[in-house]
Amino acid sequence: MPSAIISTVDKLAIVGCNANFRNILNGGEYRCPVHGYTSKKKCIEKTCQLEVQDFKAIDMYDPAPTLFIQDELHLIRESLGTYASHYESFLKYYIKNVSKSKRDVKIIGATATISSYKEQVYHLYGRNPVRFPCESPFIERNFYAAVDKEDLQRQILGYAPYGKAIVNSVVYSLKYMREAVYEYYNEPQKILAIPNIGISTEEEALELLKDYWIFLEYNNVKRDGNNVDGAIKTPVNEELSSEGIIPFKTRAMTGDESFQDVREVLAEVENNSNVYDGVNLITATSMISHGVDADRFNVMFFYGIPGNMAEYIQAYSRTGRKHTSIVVDLIRPTRETDQSYLKNFTSMHKYKDLLVEAVPINRWATKAVDNTLPGVFTGVLLTCYDPEIQYTSGSLFFMKNIKKAMKEHEINQGTVKDQLYKSFGCTDDDGITHDLGNQYRKKIDAFVDDVFVQIGDRSWSDENIFDGFRLMGYRIMNSLRDTDSQLIIELD
Ligand SMILES: [Zn+2]
Repeated sequence: MPSAIISTVDKLAIVGCNANFRNILNGGEYRCPVHGYTSKKKCIEKTCQLEVQDFKAIDMYDPAPTLFIQDELHLIRESLGTYASHYESFLKYYIKNVSKSKRDVKIIGATATISSYKEQVYHLYGRNPVRFPCESPFIERNFYAAVDKEDLQRQILGYAPYGKAIVNSVVYSLKYMREAVYEYYNEPQKILAIPNIGISTEEEALELLKDYWIFLEYNNVKRDGNNVDGAIKTPVNEELSSEGIIPFKTRAMTGDESFQDVREVLAEVENNSNVYDGVNLITATSMISHGVDADRFNVMFFYGIPGNMAEYIQAYSRTGRKHTSIVVDLIRPTRETDQSYLKNFTSMHKYKDLLVEAVPINRWATKAVDNTLPGVFTGVLLTCYDPEIQYTSGSLFFMKNIKKAMKEHEINQGTVKDQLYKSFGCTDDDGITHDLGNQYRKKIDAFVDDVFVQIGDRSWSDENIFDGFRLMGYRIMNSLRDTDSQLIIELD
């Protein structure tokens, strides 16, 4: 068995889709001599011809994972956060009460948004968190860092272009910066003339300039990036070429690009020995704000300030890793929030950490439970019941076996409800009901009652749980990102 599993949180939904997921939570019952552990009376490998009597029975000691580490905790938010909270608390219930380990889960979360962390952790895990390191009483000093007044990491400047289309201001700001950088490229001795630059040869100067050659342009929406791309092609690149300046060679980094593409661009940015011939402008969206660490990004432009302070901080933190960077905020004069940022530009940057918004997440969101209940219910069947019932009524992956097990009272309606109350955190392990849990209890009651009636009344042939629940009017989630398709609302 693996001793550590690295996964994205949305995969938790598989607990309600695939009985083999329980192998991760509670280990195996048998070992196929060829393919390894299984908790079913057949091998996990579909093509395996061996029968259960060929397997070795296994008694695993303490097989449940009890340490969960969540990186980028602040991203588990909104509907993803609510769905994750239901599956997380189901896993916690299962590991503590049903698994062989019977131990509580410990969780470590790393977050970039520490404000209101207590509320977030309560909603995501139903826990009381301990913060480490504790909050600093100082503005300019904390556990990780202190402001060094001698060492300039970033220069941030902002301006609002009045009386001009914002996209033109963005591309011309890029153009003027390109001209300035090109001037240094053309005459590297000008770099050496900068006071305290700390280098003495033109080779060193051109080496240093490589870290300022690639501009990063941040867009709040993809469409802005497309407009910038268009305006760069004509007229900006034509103008640069006619001035004898190396024009922009643009690459996009948005949600449309695959991870493969993004990795390729990053590799090109970081490892290209011939920086001056390569990509020199990246038009990006918020997808660059996490996990993109490149020393080469030191010139950045914001096409409008992101609506969220955490996002703004994350985004500009891509720059200034090795050298002092320059960040240019282009304020959209028509946006009130942008205007307010401009008006309070200095204090907004000084108190930015205090202005970080709380992570929006609500485990009691009324509609969310409708989406998670079917999958958590089948999760309960496949993890808590199927390991035993597979030998009597048959695999609970199939509807007819669920019906049989219900008829044989192997699955008890009241017990399942109680398990679901605990899985959703409506009642804690001592059976105490939480105020907000009551509305979920009612939903759980109605759902379980309906499912028991429907499964009992219908005649089933070979339907699996996906087909069966669809027929009954429910959907089992197979990913926590598996939300309703978006409605596009636009003006006529
Ligand atoms: Zn096998």
